[in-house]
Amino acid sequence: MQENQNSMTSDQYDIIIIGGGPVGMALSLALQGSGVSSLLLEAREIPEKVDDPRPLALSHGSHLILHRLGAWNQLAQHTPITTIHISNRGNFGKTTITTQDAGVPALGFVVNYHDLFHAMHKNLTVRDTHYLAGAAVTKLETSEDCGTVFFNHQNEEKKVSAQLLVLADGGQLAKQLPEIMYQTHDYQQWAVVANIQAEKKQTGIAYERFTSDGPVALLPNQQDFALVWTVAPEIAEEIIQLNDENFLSRLQHHFGDRLGKFRSAGKRSAFPLTLKFAKPITTHRVALIGNAAQTLHPVAGQGFNLGLRDAYELSNEIIHSYAAGSEIGTSTMLSRYQQKRQMDSNAGRFFTDSLVKLFSNKNTLLQQACGFGLSTLDCLPPLKRFVSRRMIFGARG
Ligand SMILES: Cc1cc2nc3c(=O)[nH]c(=O)nc-3n(C[C@H](O)[C@H](O)[C@H](O)COP(=O)(O)OP(=O)(O)OC[C@H]3O[C@@H](n4cnc5c(N)ncnc54)[C@H](O)[C@@H]3O)c2cc1C
Repeated sequence: MQENQNSMTSDQYDIIIIGGGPVGMALSLALQGSGVSSLLLEAREIPEKVDDPRPLALSHGSHLILHRLGAWNQLAQHTPITTIHISNRGNFGKTTITTQDAGVPALGFVVNYHDLFHAMHKNLTVRDTHYLAGAAVTKLETSEDCGTVFFNHQNEEKKVSAQLLVLADGGQLAKQLPEIMYQTHDYQQWAVVANIQAEKKQTGIAYERFTSDGPVALLPNQQDFALVWTVAPEIAEEIIQLNDENFLSRLQHHFGDRLGKFRSAGKRSAFPLTLKFAKPITTHRVALIGNAAQTLHPVAGQGFNLGLRDAYELSNEIIHSYAAGSEIGTSTMLSRYQQKRQMDSNAGRFFTDSLVKLFSNKNTLLQQACGFGLSTLDCLPPLKRFVSRRMIFGARG
């Protein structure tokens, strides 16, 4: 349990952030030094031990934000992506997007979720942050002028209030708020992740290969590759159980031999994939950020990048209100936040959902149309620039 200088010292704050995942921590870091008082509540008892195996492709835009938050230099490692190679298994059509196409020094970076988590966590705990781990929020109450949070900490029920409650918990608690509705779609797909060593070393190229069963990505990760392989739920269970030799041969058959022979695989893990988004993302004294606002398919690596922009935009609104001497968390402030996020969130959702639905199907005509789309993108540099800058910077790219 985290308590030192970060312990709760009051029962009233300007902001309470619920959920100390990477997006909740980003908001807490962004508010540092602004004069706004905030408390971050995280359910996990020992966040230092978080060991989530998923790789995260961070856009160049996220790199800039994490730099500003002081978390980038704390990362144990990050691998630059200089080219994205997109292909369509069993069909014609492929394209590459390069740093020159986008006009940036790197299209993005691959980091491990646990490295990012630890870098942000370290930054929080060395600074004078009000941060409480092992604090599982059980109930929310809101009124016209404040929000109240009930949580369990060290086997005691506690309560604390703020002008604004920010939900960064991944999306469970908002179900208590009748004004907030979630729309969901189960992709009936799981993502199997593992580190893969191939005959060829990585050269900064991220491979995204669409197949009728779902996309498979091999991202450059240090010397090797981070695999994100989308499959049907029953296949995920099956390939997790395979021995390394059979797993690698199945992957080879699926991905092809562009990287030579696959030589070894690290520990495998699997994640169920669902699209989930909240409407609206604000209500009285409450704002949603990160996966609590929208949970996307990992194709094209948009989820955390979008969540980080939620945190950053919300911090700007909060700091602006505070500096102007205005009340924080009013409906005017919240509707500004909502408006600013709407286009980016809708675009991220539409982009990832369309990619999955268009490419993960067995309709020959549609497959050919997708191949044609990739070839067209390959021939049109201005379109490539448009697509790549939106992937990097969001809808305002
Ligand atoms: C296989 C896979 C690959 C991905 N790849 C990419 C990628 O390449 N690029 C990208 O941008 N995104 C990617 N994503 C998406 C990315 O992982 C998420 O968008 C990101 O983790 C969301 O962060 P978050 O902080 O909003 O939520 P979470 O990471 O879910 O954190 C929520 C936190 O809230 C805490 N919490 C929950 N309930 C409570 C409670 N009641 N009280 C207190 N605390 C609570 C939890 O303990 C947790 O720490 C990928 C996702 C998957 C599954």
